[in-house]
Amino acid sequence: MTLATNVGVIGAGVGGLTLALICRHLGVGDVRIYREAAGSDNDHLLELSSNATRILHAIGLKDGLQEAAIEPQFSFTRTGQGGILLTQRALGAFSVARYGAPTYLILRSKLLELLELACRGRDIEFTADTVAEIASESGQLEFSDGRRVVHDAIVGCDGIHSKVRNLLSNADWKIDSSVCVISMRTTAAPTTHVINIWSEPSRYCIQYPVSDNRTDLLVVIQPDAMSLSSAEDAVHTALHNWHPRLQECMENVTDTCNHPVINSEPLEYWYAGKVVLLGDACHPLPVYSMQGACAAIEDAWVLGTMMERWEDTPAEGFSDYQRYRLPRVKKLRLQAIIAAANLLMAQRSDIWRRNVKWALTSRFLPEMSMEALDWLYGYDCIKGFD
Ligand SMILES: Cc1cc2nc3c(=O)[nH]c(=O)nc-3n(C[C@H](O)[C@H](O)[C@H](O)COP(=O)(O)OP(=O)(O)OC[C@H]3O[C@@H](n4cnc5c(N)ncnc54)[C@H](O)[C@@H]3O)c2cc1C
Repeated sequence: MTLATNVGVIGAGVGGLTLALICRHLGVGDVRIYREAAGSDNDHLLELSSNATRILHAIGLKDGLQEAAIEPQFSFTRTGQGGILLTQRALGAFSVARYGAPTYLILRSKLLELLELACRGRDIEFTADTVAEIASESGQLEFSDGRRVVHDAIVGCDGIHSKVRNLLSNADWKIDSSVCVISMRTTAAPTTHVINIWSEPSRYCIQYPVSDNRTDLLVVIQPDAMSLSSAEDAVHTALHNWHPRLQECMENVTDTCNHPVINSEPLEYWYAGKVVLLGDACHPLPVYSMQGACAAIEDAWVLGTMMERWEDTPAEGFSDYQRYRLPRVKKLRLQAIIAAANLLMAQRSDIWRRNVKWALTSRFLPEMSMEALDWLYGYDCIKGFD
């Protein structure tokens, strides 16, 4: 039997669930989410900055986020061993005053739970049908049991290993083996609600408060700085003799996970016929960027708006969606690579110059350092995205 519905969303991750809620919010017809059976998805902490949280607030998630997330008050960059303060970025009330929305720290599992609950509350349909074939021109999905459905638009939100992407490209993502990223869960209690970025030559570690008895670490290392027998060994060697506040976490690690770093340009074409991609499926950012989920949320708003403009023929909005989003995600990727390279500097003389520059600008010209990031955190796609 062939049914005519409106938007089919493949993947119930950050981008897919947000898109479904945005479609409902903007009044874009029916939405159906195709989800995979729950797998052994690794849970980790997400930093969601104001460019994304303003969208989540706009679709009614403010109360839920305030309950489930931590709102950090500052982000500090420090030297790893001495703990000397190099930069500080005010968050909390300051972020709300400057950008109109806060930065949150939230576990991915909690964010997905919140998004799914909101979808169910708005009668968005979920199905576990396994998609076997996609016909991009007609918008037809065929399931493994032979049933078929036709959508006016099909959105591939199926993440980094997207199968929908295979319709548009056969290129593989490039893995950057010069950088190793390891996330760690610890039972150490955070002393304050601040993000600390500890930096030493060729390595840095971001320390996130999660709850009263949990602090998470994201460690970024250039492997030629040491031999990598295992992720745990690498981290212990990399962070040996670091500041006592970090050592306390290292002594209480419960889980460690190694994450490949994808370093590829976004796909050049994000759509074909009635099929379009969103989030990691078309532009995975390097894992250390802290913007992959934020970018998927921004994508969802822009795509939802474009589909709403074209009403009965939502796929007509795909080319504008790509035109608006591609330059932004390219800039996010570049910013992430430059920021990581700065933190991973190896030469003592370069590090000394960098530290002096950071310390002086952060203390004496704070407005200048904030302005340099306004394009990132002040981006407000609800107001417009030209
Ligand atoms: C350790 C780590 C730390 C990170 N920290 C941050 C951070 O601080 N801030 C930030 O913004 N980003 C961060 N990210 C990146 C962020 O998690 C991703 O960029 C973001 O989740 C991408 O959203 P998405 O919707 O494109 O994909 P996902 O959220 O990965 O969702 C894809 C979904 O598709 C489903 N799926 C896959 N195949 C199929 C199929 N065939 N059929 C149906 N469903 C399918 C999957 O089960 C999954 O639910 C981090 C990533 C990692 C690994």
